[in-house]
Parts: sequence; C-alpha cells; structure tokens
Amino acid sequence: MTTDRPDLRNKPIRRVVIAGGGTAGWMAAAALSKTLGKVLDITLIESEEIGTVGVGEATIPTLVTFHRLLDIKEQEYMSAVKGTIKLGISFENWLDEGHRYIHSFGISGKDHWSAGFQHFWMRGQKLGIASGYEDYCVELKAALEDKFAHLPRGGINYAYHMDASLYARFLRKLSQDHGARRIEGKIVEVETDEASGFITALKLADGSTVEGDLFIDCTGFRALLIGKALGVGFEDWSHWLFNDSALATQTLAVRDAVPYTRAIAGKSGWQWRIPLQHRVGNGIVYSSKHMSDDEAKHEFLSSVEGEIIKDPWPIRFKPGQRKKSWEKNCIALGLAGSFIEPLESTTIHLIQRGIVHLLRMFPQVVTQPDIDQYNATLDSELQHVRDFVVMHYHLTNRRDSQYWRDIQAMEIPATLKHRIDLFRETGKVFRQAEELFAENSWIQVMMGQGVMPRQYHPTADVMSEPDLKRFLDDIRRNVDSTVRALPQHQAYIDQYCPGP
Ligand code: FAD
Repeated sequence: MTTDRPDLRNKPIRRVVIAGGGTAGWMAAAALSKTLGKVLDITLIESEEIGTVGVGEATIPTLVTFHRLLDIKEQEYMSAVKGTIKLGISFENWLDEGHRYIHSFGISGKDHWSAGFQHFWMRGQKLGIASGYEDYCVELKAALEDKFAHLPRGGINYAYHMDASLYARFLRKLSQDHGARRIEGKIVEVETDEASGFITALKLADGSTVEGDLFIDCTGFRALLIGKALGVGFEDWSHWLFNDSALATQTLAVRDAVPYTRAIAGKSGWQWRIPLQHRVGNGIVYSSKHMSDDEAKHEFLSSVEGEIIKDPWPIRFKPGQRKKSWEKNCIALGLAGSFIEPLESTTIHLIQRGIVHLLRMFPQVVTQPDIDQYNATLDSELQHVRDFVVMHYHLTNRRDSQYWRDIQAMEIPATLKHRIDLFRETGKVFRQAEELFAENSWIQVMMGQGVMPRQYHPTADVMSEPDLKRFLDDIRRNVDSTVRALPQHQAYIDQYCPGP
C-alpha cells in the first residue's frame, strides 16, 4: 500500500521532546540546550502532580566533569543545591558486623607502568615496612579525618552530595536560559506512526499534543514511551541484586557534615546517610522477599538520627535494564532505562553517560547503526557497574540472616568472577576501555571486603628493601602532610558556600 506521508525514518531531527523533569530530564535538557540549542527546538514536559522519585543525592566525580562541559560554576551550583563534598563511601558492616572500610575516589601511591602500587605495598606489608593501605591515599585519609579543601592541579578527587529537587530547579533555569521550553502537563497518550513505529507526539491531559522528531523518555520507573508505548522489554537482574524496595526520609543534621556517604549494611539490606548543608538524606534499601515493609520501617526509624522533617516515603524498584536504551526515535535515560541499586551512587553517572553518548552520536536522521552503537556502548557500561555493585554482596563474611545466606549461594556473573579470581591470585586488575570504575576502586573494595592477593608482581622485587622503604615512606609522608594542612570539611563548606 502506498501512502503520501513522508517516511519518518528519513526525517531530519529538529524538535526534541523530553518527557519527564526529574534529574534525568533536566540533565538532558541542560546538556542538549547548551550544546545544540541553537539548531534544535527542545521541549520538556513534566507533571508536578506526579512529581519525581525524590532521591538520588550522592554522586561520583564524573559529575564535576559534566558540569565543566556545561560551564557550571561550582560555587553557584553548590550553593544552589545545598551541596557538600563527597570523597567516597564508608562501607559499614559489609565484611562483618562492626567492620568498616572506605571506597574513596583517590588513587593510592604511585604505579609503575608494569605493576600497580598495590604490588609494592604488598611486598612492603610482607617485609613489615608498609602501614595500612589508607595511609597512601589523600582522599581516603582526608575522608577518615573529615577534611577537605580544593587542591591545585586536581590534587584531590571529589564528587558532591546534593539536594535532588534543588538540582532539578537549578538545571531547569540553566536549560530555559539556553532556550529550552517547559510544559507543565500530564502525558496521557503516546502517538506513534503506523508505518515506522516512530513516536510522533505526546498527548497531554488538557487535550493538547506536543509533536517531535526525537523523544527522550525520562518518565522514571513508569517508562511511558520506551516501555509502555514501544514495548521494549526489561532485563531483570534481581537474581544478582536482591533489593527491590526502599524507604527514604530527611532529617535535620545532628553533627557536622562528613565528606562521604555512609552505606550501612543491615539484616536484609542497607541504609544510606547523605549529609547536606541544610539536612541529611536517609534511606533503607531492602529485599521485600527477606524483610516485610513493617520490619524495614522499624529497623530504619530506630536507627535514623535527628528530627525527621519529611515523612518517610516508600519506593519500589526492579533492578535491571531495558533490552534497548534506544529504540526507533526514542532514547530512555535515568530510571526509565535502567536501575542498579544506589549502593555506589551510579545512576546519575549513567544518565550523564547516556547524554554524552547521545551528544556524540547525535543523528541528522535516525539510523540503525547509530542505534546499535549507542545500545552496545551503554550495555557494556551498565554491565560493568552491575558487576561492581554485585561484588559488594558477594565478598562478605556475613551469614547472620537468610538474606546474607541467600546472597552467598548466588552465582555471580562470569565477568565478575574472573576479576575477583585474577586479583585474589595475582593482585592484578585491568580496566577495559570506557569502564567507570578504575583499578583503584576495584582494589579498595576487594581489599576492603577481605580479599588479599596471594602474590604480587615481580616488578616490586626489583627495588632493594631500603629503596622500597624510602619509596613507601615518601608517599606516606606526602599524604600525611597534605591531609594535615586541610581544614575540616564543614568549616570549608561554611566559607565556600556562605548561604544567602
Ligand atoms: P524521576 O525522578 O522519577 O522523574 C520522572 C519524571 O517524569 C518526573 O518529572 C515526573 O513528573 C515525570 N512523569 C512521569 N510520568 C509522567 C506523565 N504521565 N506525564 C508527565 N510527566 C510524567 N542515583 C544516584 O546517582 N545517586 C544516589 O544516591 C541515588 N540514590 C537512589 C536511591 C533510591 C532508593 C533510588 C530508587 C534511586 C536512587 N538513585 C540514585 C537514582 C536516582 O534517583 C535517579 O537516577 C534520578 O533521580 C533520576 O530519576 P529520573 O529523572 O529518571 O526519574
């Protein structure tokens, strides 16, 4: 059958419609309007009545880079989102109850091209001339002492804690300044073209329609466009990641803000503490198969400190990813596309990666090779993050509840098993292409959770013992004097973001 309607597959992209105005929607709007706002017409639709998920307040250092791309001034941003600094995550009760380690954003010691610093440190430990691994990393030691200041030449690697709703507001202004249009409204229908299956317009509750050439689905767990309208399925990862429920609340601070997120393992899940300038974000993440909502609420509320300023709200989720992040003329970002639980605060990073890849590959007209390339890139980044998070559960001695015993019985992804085996046997870690977590992260978490390699690289034997001692002592002294000179994190924030 012939038709005189144009084939949408050859239609140049001029109008981009972003559905949803949570962190994903506004990050996409900000980046697209700043980069391509002069040649694209960008519209974002959000519904205040539906609201956002209301969590997602801990970030990782890649956000600093994202903000640089957008010319965001850090002090303005931190003041607007009531932000604090994050040097890493304090993992408490993960290896055993009462045990604690920090996964920091720092690099320990100095690597040789053929062998990472851990090999020199391991030989030093064997000879009794090396102290704890944390003594060789500025970020790790600074986190332990609650200290922070910016250092010249990127001398300290950090991320932020921020108020998610203030962040959306901040990005909204930035996007609108760059020409993005915002529509308040509830999407009730997604219209598609029969011939191509492409989305053509979004129908709103007031009867209006918003047409577009490219659609970005940022509607959160609802996945209205990619899931409901286009029928792209979801790959469920709950056999590796048992948690499917959360309860979140906000409290007034009872102590100075620490420069790290706390992740405290419990009976059937874990809790987060995220200190901001004006309040603390708290939450419990748990497996509903192992703990009832009432039990979770009790465990959570009996350990939350400070006055509760927002009633706890429940969140249900399914870990996993859309089988395709980009289908036809629709790209899913944020919770609409994937969700790996927040243990390593990676979702905002994955939103950012989705945006950066989209910008790099932004098509004149939608083509299948673009779609395939984008999906393959995102898949491999997601699977890498998934493995990293699963590792925290796998490497534990905890057996004190059915939850931890079931986790022990779980078969882990082959890719993860290989990484752990390689490190356990040889102390080696290799980062592939664009993987998020570098060698240092894997090492800190694996050693933090009790994996001590059986061997070190022979390069570490090349130095004489006195030379190795001097090498290790110099690094430790440098770290020590750098951290000693840093102010307390809270004092630094007070002068860096002096309030209204
Ligand atoms: P949402 O915030 O849910 O936004 C969806 C948007 O779509 C809203 O504006 C909504 O109004 C709109 N919408 C939906 N339906 C319609 C409709 N019919 N019509 C119009 N508009 C509609 N990430 C991190 O990086 N760090 C963390 O510390 C972290 N912690 C988390 C803790 C938990 C328990 C959970 C569940 C997630 C966490 N995340 C974290 C993930 C983080 O919350 C999300 O990545 C982030 O908030 C982005 O969400 P979103 O924009 O995709 O969805």
